[in-house]
Amino acid sequence: MDFELKILGSASATPTQGRHPTAQLLTAGGQQYLIDCGEGTQWRMLEHRVRPHHLRAIFISHLHGDHYFGLFGLLGTMHLQGRSQTLTIVGPPGLDEVLTTQMRVSGMQLAFGMEFVCVDTEQVAEVYADAHISATSLPMRHRIPCAGYLFAEQPRRANLLKEKLPAGLRPDQLARLAQGHDLPAEADQPALRHADVSAPALPPRRYAFCSDTRYTPALAAHIQDVDLLYHEATFLEDLRERATQTHHSTARQAAQLAVAAGAKRLLIGHFSSRYKSLEPLLTEARTVYPAAGLAIEGLVVSL
Ligand SMILES: [Zn+2]
Ligand SMILES: [Zn+2]
Repeated sequence: MDFELKILGSASATPTQGRHPTAQLLTAGGQQYLIDCGEGTQWRMLEHRVRPHHLRAIFISHLHGDHYFGLFGLLGTMHLQGRSQTLTIVGPPGLDEVLTTQMRVSGMQLAFGMEFVCVDTEQVAEVYADAHISATSLPMRHRIPCAGYLFAEQPRRANLLKEKLPAGLRPDQLARLAQGHDLPAEADQPALRHADVSAPALPPRRYAFCSDTRYTPALAAHIQDVDLLYHEATFLEDLRERATQTHHSTARQAAQLAVAAGAKRLLIGHFSSRYKSLEPLLTEARTVYPAAGLAIEGLVVSL
């Protein structure tokens, strides 16, 4: 199964040439999920050939504009393109109120259903699950209620080992084994245990999205050994005071969290528009966590 992250935008609050506000696309098992939807996200989707139609669910971290001002436009486009499949929108309290107000005052009646999942941004709790992934909320410490999300693929199946399968199995017996069942003994065949003819399943891959937040070391306990961590790094360490005051983090702090969590990879993002070059942010993160990378537009990470 594919498990892939694409960065559509990585800037913070004010417009910056060549950078775009937060939006990411997670693809898992052929399904697509949008994470945050800053202004102009649908143009980024157009550039990267992501069809709005195909989105299964949208996760919004918080209601600062750089994380959701693109949502209403995107919903309008889905409506005009004739979407009929229900869309799940996961986000903090107030998001449903904003969207229903926008729809009411603009007289827009969507052609598809919307299911809102209101996230308690203080809790670590499962907020979404389907056949491919689950998502757990992660409490961020920001100026307004804000959730990060830990995405995990559903448990993977053990692969059958051809060389260990006895000859002469019928298709229905093979199908049962492939589904993880044991085979009972039959007249001409002894019982067969699934565990004896399969390789152990690989652990589910996990991606932690830590949006706007003050440095919060306690987060590490909830995302131990995560395959990929995205963490905001709005400022450099020399502006740590400002980061704390504005409820943001520095590149060094993002890297410290990656170390504490034992993350296998780190991407930093949500860069302040004051930084024309992002190299100093990357260099600072790498002094603490050498495998750090920049979440820049168009970057694809396959896990
Ligand atoms: Zn922001
Ligand atoms: Zn914010």
